[in-house]
Amino acid sequence: MSEHEKSVDQHVGELLSGMVDGELTQQQRQLVSLHCETCDECRENLENLRGLRQRIGNSQLSELGEDQWRENMNDKKVTTSRSIGWLMLVGGLLAIAGIFLIAFILSDEIHIGMKLILIAIYGGLATLLYSVLRQRLIEQKTDKYKDVEI
Ligand SMILES: [Zn+2]
Repeated sequence: MSEHEKSVDQHVGELLSGMVDGELTQQQRQLVSLHCETCDECRENLENLRGLRQRIGNSQLSELGEDQWRENMNDKKVTTSRSIGWLMLVGGLLAIAGIFLIAFILSDEIHIGMKLILIAIYGGLATLLYSVLRQRLIEQKTDKYKDVEI
């Protein structure tokens, strides 16, 4: 059946979703409008479809927002645990390095210049660890404060 053969007397069920989506030609829209003026069944279907489409649109939007939020939370957790892992690793390495450093410094066989370089490297690492730790502690405090607020 071609579109020209469709008349106002025929139900327009298959055109209703296209009408809601705005995919119809002007001729098709007129056909649907005209038909819905006289046919309660199709008019009701059209209104139901419109309502449904609106609800789907709205819920898709809010679900997207929720997913985004959840993703952000997961990212934060992963980042935090990763940071703690790094801190433990670096802290352990620094402890070992510290023991070696003391042995080096106390040793008479190692040149004073070498000792100074090692102290500089160790001092740099310790400073880095301290600054990362300090930042982490501040972030944790902020997180706790947020929890209390909520
Ligand atoms: Zn109808």
